[in-house]
Amino acid sequence: MRVTLCQGVLTGAILVNLLILYYVSRAQQQMIEKRKEQGRGTRKAALLEAGMGLGGEPVGPPVAGRSRAPRVTVLLREFENFENYVRDAATSFLRQRPEVPFLVVADAPPYPPLVLPDGARLLVLSPSPDQPPQAHRPEFHVQTEFVLLLPDGVELDPPRVIERLIKELEGEGGGPVRLVASPVLTRSAVQCLHLRVNLREWTASYSAAASGSSGSVCTALQGDAAVLIRAEDLFNLSVPLGRPLFSSLFIQTALRGWKVKLLEGPCFSSNRRPLFSSAHNQWKADTRLKEATGRMMRSFGVKRVLLPDGKEQWHGCGKETPRCFGTVQDDTPDYLYLDRWTPPCCLRALRETAKYVISILESSGVRYWLEGGTLLGAVRHQDIIPWDYDVDLGIYLEDIPNCDHLKNLDSGSLVDANGYVWERAVEGDFYRVQYSEANHLHVDLWPFYPRDGVMTKDTWTEHKQDVEFPEHFLQPLVPMLFAGAAAYVPNNHRAFLELKFGEGVIENPQYPNPAKKGLDRAKI
Ligand code: ZN
Repeated sequence: MRVTLCQGVLTGAILVNLLILYYVSRAQQQMIEKRKEQGRGTRKAALLEAGMGLGGEPVGPPVAGRSRAPRVTVLLREFENFENYVRDAATSFLRQRPEVPFLVVADAPPYPPLVLPDGARLLVLSPSPDQPPQAHRPEFHVQTEFVLLLPDGVELDPPRVIERLIKELEGEGGGPVRLVASPVLTRSAVQCLHLRVNLREWTASYSAAASGSSGSVCTALQGDAAVLIRAEDLFNLSVPLGRPLFSSLFIQTALRGWKVKLLEGPCFSSNRRPLFSSAHNQWKADTRLKEATGRMMRSFGVKRVLLPDGKEQWHGCGKETPRCFGTVQDDTPDYLYLDRWTPPCCLRALRETAKYVISILESSGVRYWLEGGTLLGAVRHQDIIPWDYDVDLGIYLEDIPNCDHLKNLDSGSLVDANGYVWERAVEGDFYRVQYSEANHLHVDLWPFYPRDGVMTKDTWTEHKQDVEFPEHFLQPLVPMLFAGAAAYVPNNHRAFLELKFGEGVIENPQYPNPAKKGLDRAKI
């Protein structure tokens, strides 16, 4: 076989290249080994000082060549750009436990930028158009089995607290306790709360939980604590790292039936309490917390929050805002399709409007009675039906001139001294009182007149309950408790309701238009 000059040169070049590659890779390997040795030395020294082994276990005889991967990622989510101690917290943790990943998570790149020590990383959640989605998804940045959610300004002291939390969580096995918390030493103690979230009623209720001797088990925490959770559990939540972190976290875990165990100790220490150095910064942080809470509650569909001290917090509609749901189609408001009932803010506004209108009708001498679904609600539970969206009253047509608010409404509308809007409906001969100019929750007034002992009117809706009825049901009108006050209703209300809706209507609740959306009785 003849070898050309060209082939010879090529073979030689390849051989030289292979040799260079071999020496370079050997040199690199040696460097890595050397670095590993050094790393083990310093980490070992730090941990020996703390009385711990590499994996956090008590120090025993060294096992050659064994290095255990960290089991927990420390995650710091809750901090303010204008004043924070993220760098101090990261430095404190990484000094004690350099092998533990320390991840700082922010919605947008912090400004002024965070200066983080080596080993700490920043993850920005807002997507950037030049990056793949996983660049902004926290689950791709956590490789450990556990995540420790850390408040700002906390130190890793004592260093063993992480292992204690892991041991506690593992000890719970497959039980309902899926989070374990350790308090941060501050003047105000962290509190264990019971949290009940009822999405159908758009409500979250917090109440104080009794504390046990070996740590309390509850469904939410109030105050400063570090919380350990399995990464798998955290990243299976709908919104794993929403803000405010703990409010968002516990609403989601409570809905899954998960519990949190609050240990009495060991505590994380902190010399940064209060966290903010000036009253102005504290005010700024409080304002931002309030805004973030409102955004989070609205996005979760929680419109009413009952606080442990008995106070109420509202995140739904009010007098100055539009009502929570749009124009109702096919008698079926949008929330029914979401398997939710009337938002509590809307029920509150409807009750308020109904009581107001009733008081004006009574003082003006206009005879009225609860009509249709409103009467049905009063008979069933002395209140508006929990999925109803308006209030209906019948009135005597001949009494209208007695009421200043109604008698001049032939055209246009009237905003009264209390901001309620009175108008004659364009759809037919009835009147409507709206909660406010912005919020169109309303009470409808349907004028009837007697003819040969029968109550009738001139325009009718297509609703099956909109029919004539004998006047004797109104002779006399009788009082009944409704929405916390007395209101007049027809006598013999069962016969009245069965005449309008059919037999058994009181005992058999149904949504307004079962052909569009029916009520699943099993869920009541
Ligand atoms: Zn509302």
